[in-house]
Amino acid sequence: MVRIRLSSLTNAKVGQRESVGLNLGQLSLDDLSVAYLKGVLNFTRVANGILAQGTLNAAVATECTRCLELFFAPVVVELEGLIGFSGASLSPERPVRVTEEGWVDLAPLVREYLWLGLPANPVCSPTCAGLCPRCGGNIDRGECSCGDKAPIDPRWAVLQTLLDGE
Ligand SMILES: [Zn+2]
Ligand SMILES: [Zn+2]
Repeated sequence: MVRIRLSSLTNAKVGQRESVGLNLGQLSLDDLSVAYLKGVLNFTRVANGILAQGTLNAAVATECTRCLELFFAPVVVELEGLIGFSGASLSPERPVRVTEEGWVDLAPLVREYLWLGLPANPVCSPTCAGLCPRCGGNIDRGECSCGDKAPIDPRWAVLQTLLDGE
């Protein structure tokens, strides 16, 4: 849940603004596990709702494409979304609305942005050596016991030729 009270804006004049600082610790956004979520969101009363805009910093759990370990990837997103008034119908383009009491849970909107902000090929560290192509052991953790002398899998021989040629 990313709950924010916007009751001061629901009945305000168009153009009225309010800024809200976010600083949340561990939270789950549906299927996303987030270590922290920080930033400032600016809310502006517009004719058909409340416009949310701002930059959010988060760390989102994802799998390293090299070693397959779970880690928290830093993600920065420029969020922008229209929040409907209470009773407004929800849609993929407008997934959030305020309650009658003036609260909004921005979780569906934030989740969507964090998903889009995740790197396509996340790596836990720029120096992650990943898994050994021969034994499948995690090289950084010392799980590879092949050593340099081990017979190479013929499927990787071509790659080895390329590496030797550098
Ligand atoms: Zn890794
Ligand atoms: Zn190995």
